[in-house]
Amino acid sequence: MNSNDDDLPEQTPADYIKRHIRTVPDWPSPGIQFRDITPLLSSPRVFRVLIDQFVHRYFDLRPSAIAGLDARGFIIGSVLAYELNVGFVPIRKKGKLPFTTVEETYELEYGSATVEIHTDAVRAGDRVLLIDDLIATGGTMMAGMRLLERLGATVIEGAAIVDLPELAGSARLRAAGLAVHTLVSFEGH
Ligand code: AMP
Repeated sequence: MNSNDDDLPEQTPADYIKRHIRTVPDWPSPGIQFRDITPLLSSPRVFRVLIDQFVHRYFDLRPSAIAGLDARGFIIGSVLAYELNVGFVPIRKKGKLPFTTVEETYELEYGSATVEIHTDAVRAGDRVLLIDDLIATGGTMMAGMRLLERLGATVIEGAAIVDLPELAGSARLRAAGLAVHTLVSFEGH
């Protein structure tokens, strides 16, 4: 293969995207391999390839809205919503949304986390695409799905750039009835 990163025809979009994800060992705590997507965003060409992967898929599946998970889900979710000409709604960590909210709490390895959504963010019957940068245990996406379903929406798919299959989150989400679509996967945690 040509060593030039920009030589797209010689690699699949997924390979190209994966090569631009930076792994930071032992961050934010020992044993975690942090999959940093900022190099995907800072290169205009890679960013476009990334967004186009999702645009091509969801152009036909036609969600009526896109919900992004705090915080990196906002970056790709809002661009995708703009491209598909649908609305974007944020699902935020507790305490950030100013209007009336519903919330879901889920377990983390140590402790728990709570996410919220505005009660008027989606309507009954909406077909929502739920998006984040990465699926690890699946807890965050599961909580997001529950919030959207509590508001009467249907979650047509959960999407992420990265899957960590060894943590079984995507399998857990599929077992709970959610279709899951990811672009690349990494071994380990
Ligand atoms: P989970 O709820 O366990 O599926 O974790 C997914 C959420 O945590 C996503 O919002 C990710 O941004 C973040 N996350 C978890 N593990 C990693 C990791 N190894 N690298 C980057 N982000 C991670």
